[in-house]
Amino acid sequence: MTDGPTYGFDTLQIHAGAKPDPATGARQTPIYQTTAYVFRDADHAAALFNLQEVGFIYSRLTNPTVAVLQERIATLEGGVGAVCCSSGHAAQIMALFPLMQPGMNIVASTRLYGGTVTQFTHTIKRFGWSCTFVDFDDLDAVKAAIDDNTRAVFCEAIANPGGYITDLDAISKISDAAGIPLIVDNTSATPYLCRPIEHGATLVVHSTTKYLTGNGTVTGGAIVDSGKFDWSANDKFPSLSQPEPAYHGLKFHETFGPLAFTFHGIAIGLRDLGMTMNPQAAHYTLMGTETLSLRMDRHVENAEKIATWLEKDERVDYVTYAGLKSSPYNKRMDKICPRGAGGLFTFAVKGGYDACVKLVNALEIFSHVANLGDTRSLIIHSASTTHRQLTAEQQEAAGAGAGVVRVSIGTEDADDLIADLDQALAKATS
Ligand SMILES: *Cc1c(COP(=O)(O)O)cnc(C)c1O
Repeated sequence: MTDGPTYGFDTLQIHAGAKPDPATGARQTPIYQTTAYVFRDADHAAALFNLQEVGFIYSRLTNPTVAVLQERIATLEGGVGAVCCSSGHAAQIMALFPLMQPGMNIVASTRLYGGTVTQFTHTIKRFGWSCTFVDFDDLDAVKAAIDDNTRAVFCEAIANPGGYITDLDAISKISDAAGIPLIVDNTSATPYLCRPIEHGATLVVHSTTKYLTGNGTVTGGAIVDSGKFDWSANDKFPSLSQPEPAYHGLKFHETFGPLAFTFHGIAIGLRDLGMTMNPQAAHYTLMGTETLSLRMDRHVENAEKIATWLEKDERVDYVTYAGLKSSPYNKRMDKICPRGAGGLFTFAVKGGYDACVKLVNALEIFSHVANLGDTRSLIIHSASTTHRQLTAEQQEAAGAGAGVVRVSIGTEDADDLIADLDQALAKATS
């Protein structure tokens, strides 16, 4: 669907990447539940292994069901290619892997998903990488944090857990000036609400576990490449610009041009790290993408109603939802995600930690789970769960202090959700 007329988002989320199965006419994308693919002959096999011809070899690298999802997500994000992988966390490692070497660092926003803060604080050190966290509203601090060994700038478009929108245009100016890529985690916003590439992102990563699948069935991740970064402009990215010893000296950027990062992600990343998405997961996520815009509109509508109701309630201290006029990020919403600030926000319950725990226990429709982006409404007390590994300062900086709960507003009837919150707040604060 890439050569035809320019279709709207609602059309692309159903059709991009997919066509009726050439073998059977099956209208829905089949689940190609196979590990391997028969080569036409020995020459065909050799050409595939040399990357001279694109095709299917082995499902650790490529699979036709996963390939449809890759093209769909790339199209929705306005990128040139995408690589799907086994989880959002895998996507982050896969995005950094071609850029990094021991001794190199990234500069990341303090306002990130708790698991990402942990991954970047502790685990990447095992690879000899490090991360400097800064407040991305302080542009001078972002500039100052970048040094000669910085290989990427990382942030979320709408940051999990609550109410923060990154000024992607301002941040991408800084990463451009430094000659390094900007990686944007677009999980909470989805390409329906925000298209980071239009605001200067080089790479977009996703936890497809969340809104893209939309129903809490499978974990998955994706890395989308804008195709706009010049990997050969300086000597910082030898994996992409220099000869690759594990491919007979092939230079990815010279050979594949704007698709260099995507080909590297498959040919080196998936081949050797093996963080592969399976075709069943791709199937569930493909089903999810078909209704993405419909769900996101409802998530936003419900979140706006519920945040407005909570803000007026005297049992609530404050609500951090960028969709509220009172939010310091409401103006930024108009620029970065004009269709709405998503379905995630936090609110502070009078009575602090204990009241939050009581509230979570008393809710009936809301489920207490460590997930977000489901059709079901979800709640979590971040400080005692997802952000538990963080210091108190890190929790505060991430917007997940002890007296705050995070909600992921689902697509149920907003009035039912409000009634549920009302009865639970009564119990929590009595
Ligand atoms: C969930 C999440 C991740 C991690 O994704 P997994 O699929 O759980 O590995 C990363 N970033 C954000 C914003 C998330 O919400």
